[in-house]
Amino acid sequence: MPENDNVKVAIRVRPLSNKEKAECLGKQCIQVDLSMSSISIDTKSSIKTFTYDFIGDQDITQEELFEVIGQPIASSCLAGYNGTIFAYGQTGSGKTHTILGPSSLNLLSANINDYNLRGLLPRALEFIFNSVKKEIKRCSGVEFLLKCSFLEIYNEQINDLLLPEQRGLQIREDIKKGVYIEGLQIETVLSFEETYELLNTGIKNRHVGATSMNKESSRSHSVFTLAIESKEKKDDLWNFRSSLFHVIDLAGSERQKSTEARGERLKEASMINKSLSTLGNVINSLVDISEGKNRHVHYRDSKLTFLLKDSLGGNSKTCIIANISAASTCFGETLSTLRFAERAKLVKNQAVINEDTVGTIKELREEVKNLKIQLNNAK
Ligand code: ADP
Ligand code: MG
Repeated sequence: MPENDNVKVAIRVRPLSNKEKAECLGKQCIQVDLSMSSISIDTKSSIKTFTYDFIGDQDITQEELFEVIGQPIASSCLAGYNGTIFAYGQTGSGKTHTILGPSSLNLLSANINDYNLRGLLPRALEFIFNSVKKEIKRCSGVEFLLKCSFLEIYNEQINDLLLPEQRGLQIREDIKKGVYIEGLQIETVLSFEETYELLNTGIKNRHVGATSMNKESSRSHSVFTLAIESKEKKDDLWNFRSSLFHVIDLAGSERQKSTEARGERLKEASMINKSLSTLGNVINSLVDISEGKNRHVHYRDSKLTFLLKDSLGGNSKTCIIANISAASTCFGETLSTLRFAERAKLVKNQAVINEDTVGTIKELREEVKNLKIQLNNAK
């Protein structure tokens, strides 16, 4: 994909299910042109063609998708940039498959065929831990500290997936720490296996929560974050780097039928709409800004956009994977996802390496001495 500051947008078309194959009798609502990175859709009034940074058709493997999208962002995070990957799309479009892989998959006991179906997040974690090992071998003066957290946003409430009794956590923002969640469990991790176990614990907690509340996990947004810190001594100076790698499996983007919903379900429908509609509003404001218009971006209107402020229009390398189905029965939602994805690619980010260079005590003493001399001379 070309190197620029815009949010990258990839489309992934999921293979038709057997049910869809039977229902559509081979008729699909989109036409993919891989050489042009474009997708055409017949909107009844006209044929609309959209182009994106990357399109994965029904044949793309998990490995290929990781190489195109996961690996470049994971590498950037190791170099000190923040990175974010969102999976967007209607329920059943393949978001969780793309991020995690098949739901029953346990990598630590899987056979090789199942193992190859692992999604982008386990692949990225494996890649990051392997790269860290290589870097430590290559350069003896470098040290790394990796930490992870895992949360869900459900009904505009932040729940800790690593410590499930922690519910309704608050987002805070300060100049030093940026945006963070007060009290969120943050685990230091030393290996891929340890991180993968935590990821699985979080996924189980998400399902238990979903069942006990009679909801589906497709109604909540899940955010997995790996914080990478490193320090390296170069020519008597310490170079500190820190970055955040967020991977988000969004709630299903389909319009909620609020007329059918009552009570808790109605509240839930409007809250999910709130996070996703705020995401849409934030993207629209950022697109206006990229066109030179003066706009205020209402990040704080939803938990999702407040927490991921840097990922949209800020200091991050961000990719949105919009998942779609080609089934003609999914026409409306597929068109709506293609439109959302088209706007998102106009958002401009400004990613920088988050680093700080500090001299040794000897050097700092030297600097203090020089400043004192300057001060005396100025008197
Ligand atoms: P979502 O998370 O968007 O609701 P899922 O990832 O759960 O959707 O996918 C719905 C179903 O389609 C699952 O049974 C999943 O295994 C299957 N599926 C999705 N994407 C693919 C794919 N690329 N290849 C094979 N099966 C897929
Ligand atoms: Mg899902």
